[in-house]
Amino acid sequence: MPMQSQHETPAAARLSALRGRIEAAARARPVELLAVSKTQPAEAVAALAACGQRAFGENYVREAAAKIEDLRPLGLRWHLIGHLQSNKAAQAAALFDCIESVDRAKLLPLLDAARAASGRGPLDILLQVNIDDEASKSGCAPADLPALAEAAARCPNLRLRGLMSIPAPVADLEIRRRSFAVLHDLFEQLREQHPQVDTLSMGMSEDFELAIAEGATRVRVGSALFGPRGAGNRESGLENR
Ligand SMILES: *Cc1c(COP(=O)(O)O)cnc(C)c1O
Repeated sequence: MPMQSQHETPAAARLSALRGRIEAAARARPVELLAVSKTQPAEAVAALAACGQRAFGENYVREAAAKIEDLRPLGLRWHLIGHLQSNKAAQAAALFDCIESVDRAKLLPLLDAARAASGRGPLDILLQVNIDDEASKSGCAPADLPALAEAAARCPNLRLRGLMSIPAPVADLEIRRRSFAVLHDLFEQLREQHPQVDTLSMGMSEDFELAIAEGATRVRVGSALFGPRGAGNRESGLENR
């Protein structure tokens, strides 16, 4: 036995506290935790991996590529959750295990062809939906979801798994709850047309319990797990970079 057990590190403590909160909110329903590691160094990811966390979310293809390469021996699962530019689609399709931010039909043939060329087998995708209709944010309009889902389902190297969304971070939790409920309705509608759909990715550090209460099957948590971004993270012994 090592002198310091894994459970004494700050990363382990935060992970087990978070898992406890997820379990309490989920009431025996399975809810996946995606650890959002954007801006965190590979060492911080490795520390959580050592505590059993397997799935990590990244926002930028270039930043993720370096970490994925560094940590390849650990066999982790990597999800892209940030906006995907068309000129990065081919690289992303080869690199990630799941792309949660597919929000327009133009990406589909690019991802499909690149995934085929990678020889990695079908790529899991989620369709990102813009629930609050904010012009500045990515995500497809709810009305466009059926057509986008049809197009995705026709791509042999893509596997449509569900929906992802980032509702507006309004202070009023009742409004957020309503957005999550609308997303759950859209998810159920999608599942009627596409029975293989099983993933509803919604909820972040501030509101994941609310999202779980409204039917999230996956929550994406960054700061509640790693500490505030860009704060140097001295608590876990890591230098700021
Ligand atoms: C950064 C980010 C998260 C995590 O946010 P926290 O508030 O740090 O938990 C989740 N989803 C997406 C799409 C993000 O960009």
